Amino acid sequence: MVFFCFLVDQQRKVKSSKPAAGICSRCGGGASVADMKTATRFIFVPFYWKSWRAIICTFCGAVLRSYG
Ligand SMILES: [Zn+2]
Repeated sequence: MVFFCFLVDQQRKVKSSKPAAGICSRCGGGASVADMKTATRFIFVPFYWKSWRAIICTFCGAVLRSYG
């Protein structure tokens, strides 16, 4: 099981985003509502996708709030 950690990684992608009210608590940049997609990969082969929505910072990319 130790090696499992090295073989599995996650990739986060922003499918689309729209400007939203609010500012980033980390850098003060503008927030936006984004449709995110996270792909879990096993030895660089994606085997699981998850779509979710989040409020992210357009400047530093921090996730300010996530839904589902
Ligand atoms: Zn930020």
